[in-house]
Amino acid sequence: MLRPSNAPRWVRCAGSARGEAGEPEQPDSDAAREGTAAHWLATQWTGGLADLHEVAPNGVQLTDEHVQAARLYVDTVGAGAIHEQRMATETFGPLIEGTPDAIDYDRDTRTVRVWDFKYGRGVVESVDNYQTLIYSAMLHATDAERYELTIVQPRAYHPDGPVRTWTIPAAEYPRHIEIVRDSALNAVGDAPLTRVGRQCRYCRARWKCNSLQVAGADAADRADAAAMIDQPIADAALEYTYLTAAFKALEYRLAALDERLLGEIRGGGKIPGYTATPGQGSTVWNLPVDAIVAAGDLVGVDVRKPLDVITPKQAVKAGVSMLLVGALSEKKPGALKLAVDNRNELARKVFT
Ligand code: SF4
Repeated sequence: MLRPSNAPRWVRCAGSARGEAGEPEQPDSDAAREGTAAHWLATQWTGGLADLHEVAPNGVQLTDEHVQAARLYVDTVGAGAIHEQRMATETFGPLIEGTPDAIDYDRDTRTVRVWDFKYGRGVVESVDNYQTLIYSAMLHATDAERYELTIVQPRAYHPDGPVRTWTIPAAEYPRHIEIVRDSALNAVGDAPLTRVGRQCRYCRARWKCNSLQVAGADAADRADAAAMIDQPIADAALEYTYLTAAFKALEYRLAALDERLLGEIRGGGKIPGYTATPGQGSTVWNLPVDAIVAAGDLVGVDVRKPLDVITPKQAVKAGVSMLLVGALSEKKPGALKLAVDNRNELARKVFT
């Protein structure tokens, strides 16, 4: 069964669906648990349960950040939408089932609307977002004139803001459906093709994927190729784009190998040329703080730390309101770094 939530992978790499089948889900990271908690809070509100809870059912302590993010999502969706309901479609060939965060068909304007709430910090683009596109087909609104597919992502910086919508006029909709249908049919076919790209980062099959291994090896093989040229700036940008993608492919491959080799050693296996060693620990005092301070005073050395405070982010996590933290802190600009501009046609072609 193809899952809409995995569509960012199987639409770009049809072979990933088969590769991931049977691979265990990764255990929930802290970030995933935070996202689940924020979703739960939003669901409480959209379900009319207005009580403010302190702890989500998964044990995550709710903070102002969760509350503000869930509030933005709930306010964006507004009233009348269907929330968290399992739905299905065969628009793409094979049966695809999934649970849209929120979906609605406005009969007055003949507009299908889908909303997806993302709590993570890694930017999720609304344009070419195949997960929301698949959800939009689940309403089977054959007379729709437009589709508005919205990502609500309060915690990731994006030049277009935290609420971003991909609007597709009905005339263009079939073209996008075709892209997903081709991949879906390929994915469930006899010999699905694999394609290395940014989708490899979250692929559970990456440890055994031949394509990723070859791409990593290929990138490593070419890493020392140098040319003394007066390169036009547009070519430099293009090369940077491809090298970044190759570098990421290597990273994903290395991370997959790292997990696999460590797993083998943890399970009692032996690996030629490698062993597992604990990381460098730090030297710590083995008496209570008072005793260490007293010992320092005894020899005339003040071993107390200068008074310090936790960071503004840590303060919010610890329960100080965002309002107070906002009044007492400021955001300092970091060093300039290159970032992908997804409104730029070239970057979109390379990275999608
Ligand atoms: S690791 Fe990348 S290329 Fe390999 S199956 Fe997964 S998404 Fe496809």
